[in-house]
Parts: sequence; C-alpha cells; structure tokens
Amino acid sequence: MRSKVERIAVLTSGGDAPGMNAAIRGVVRTAIGKGIRIYGIRKGYAGIYEEEFREMYAEDVSHTINLGGTILYTARCQRMKEDDGPAEAAEILKQHKIDGLVVIGGDGSFRGAQCLSKCGINVIGIPGTIDLDIGCTDYTIGFDTAVNTAVDAIDKIKDSSTSHERCSIVEVMGRSAGYIALVSGIATGAEEILMPETYDNNEERLINNLIVNRKRGHTHHIIINAEGIGDSIGLAERIEAATGIETRASVLGYLQRGGSPTSRDRMYASVMGTRAVELLASGARNRLLCISGGGLVDRDIDEAMKMEKHIPDYLTRTADVLTYHYTKKNSI
Ligand code: ADP
Repeated sequence: MRSKVERIAVLTSGGDAPGMNAAIRGVVRTAIGKGIRIYGIRKGYAGIYEEEFREMYAEDVSHTINLGGTILYTARCQRMKEDDGPAEAAEILKQHKIDGLVVIGGDGSFRGAQCLSKCGINVIGIPGTIDLDIGCTDYTIGFDTAVNTAVDAIDKIKDSSTSHERCSIVEVMGRSAGYIALVSGIATGAEEILMPETYDNNEERLINNLIVNRKRGHTHHIIINAEGIGDSIGLAERIEAATGIETRASVLGYLQRGGSPTSRDRMYASVMGTRAVELLASGARNRLLCISGGGLVDRDIDEAMKMEKHIPDYLTRTADVLTYHYTKKNSI
C-alpha cells in the first residue's frame, strides 16, 4: 500500500517563462486543498543545495497569476550536471522529508528531474519554456506570451519600416528551435522567416527576393531571424551593401521573456499545476505533463524524454505560401 503524501516541493528552473507563477499557484492551492504541505524551493536546483526551502501558504500566491517571471526565482545549476550532483540533491530532499517534487522548466530542467528520479525522488514535470522545444508536448507554458510580445514588437517595427521604405530584420528568441520565429513570422505577414531547422544560409536568395519585392512596389520587407541563426546586424549590413536599400536589425532579446502571461498560458499553467499535485496524491511516479492532441496527458519521464519534436507541416507550408518566394514563379 502506498504511503500518504504529506510534504511536496515545487521549483522553477532554467529559462524563465511567463506563466510559471500561475503554475506555482496551481500547485500550491491544490496541495493545500488536499491537506498536503507544500514547500517552495528558490532558485531552481541551486536552492536544493542551498536548502532554500520555504513552506508556502495560499496567500503566498495571491495576485500572482498575472505576474511574469517567477516568484520562486530561477537559476542554472552546474552541480546538478556533475556525476554525484543529483544524488546529493536527492539526499537533501529526503532529509527534508519531501515526498514529491514538481519541476517547472524546460528540457534541461527535465533532464535534471530525470536524474533525481533515478536517485529515488518522485518527480512531476511541468513544461515551462518560451521556446516550445520539448519533444513530448505540443505546448509549453510561456510560448503564447512570448509570441504575442514578438508580434507586438514586429508590428511596430513594420510601421516604421514601411514609412521609411526600409528592410527590417527582427531577431527573435529560439537558440535551437524556430517556433517563435515561425509563428510570429506568419502572424505578422513577414516576407522571410529564418529558422535554425531549415535555413540554408543562402543570402543571395534573401537579397534577390528583396530586390524583386521592391521592384514590385512593396514598401516594407520584414525578415524574421531566429536567435539560433543570429548575426542579424551583420546580415543587415550585407543586405544594405548588396542592394542599396536601407536595412536595419532589431534584436528583441529578453523582452520576449517578460510580461504578464496571456490567458492561454495562465490556463495551461493552472491546469498543469493542479494536475501535478493530483498525480502525486494519487501515487503516480515520475511523470511529465504534456499537451497532446488538444488534451492533457502524463507520460513516464524516461519515455517522454526520448520523444522528438518536428515542426508541424501545416505551419511550414503556410509560411512557404505566404512569405515571398520570388525566385519561384509567383504572381501574388
Ligand atoms: P531549461 O530547463 O530552460 O532547458 P537549462 O538547459 O539551462 O534550462 O537547464 C536548467 C538546469 O537543469 C541546469 O542548470 C541544470 O541544473 C539542470 N540540468 C540541465 N541538463 C542537465 C543534465 N543533463 N543532467 C542533470 N541536470 C541537468
């Protein structure tokens, strides 16, 4: 017979994402409702080694559902990646009599959680990253807010770009995944979307497209460039030198991480925070929460971490049709 779950902990780890607070709130309020004591661990895995455990109460998460960032702070923690790091962290969690740990974070944080599971800690993962780059889930908390922030900025840059008849390169976040670039590019009607997954380094094509576009009378030309490709300023200089068309780069950077989460992020965060505690209370072990086919599922952490993600065809096809491909025959 399984023993009763009495004390659980929650932490946020890795890159911060809007909606993490809504997830913490879901965890805290659900735990308290079930009579489970809930501890917040500050600064991600680093807070385990530093024993930054604080019991949380319902009022600790009042007025947090709308806040960006994370009230528990987040960090990157090298010690967890060392051979004996997870075992030491697990030992500390056991000393604090933690029956289950909810980890809110990205792919790296889930690898850390997987290591803790091998050391006897029961972990539940909630996907929180603006990059959408976790294989086992169709959705990650923070993505919607980050995309909306990028769209708002790109729309504004486009206004200015059109007025000056410029070419504008807007660099959005996404070191290895181009989801923010792809979705914000489709949503703003960008002329080019450069993603690490597909970009062929063909600057000649970019330049030709711009020249033809300009000859056709288009007054703006927006190139969305993912962080993983980078070098937006250099690219702008090369395009301007080749075309004579004023070209400016804007790197959106960290503003994409901040801000009040959208309703979509708040909703998924609340749903997953609640479910994480329900899973722990029901005796489930080592699960990752995922959105799949529109529904909420939980997967075994080892199986889930093997899953790979591919950008859906419907998105890349849409981008192919709606961005300008003047090197092909195109009469739009
Ligand atoms: P994210 O969770 O946003 O992907 P990181 O990749 O920086 O962010 O990972 C966050 C933290 O998770 C790291 O600082 C480290 O403590 C832990 N972590 C990442 N990868 C591993 C790993 N392979 N083994 C153990 N812990 C890891």
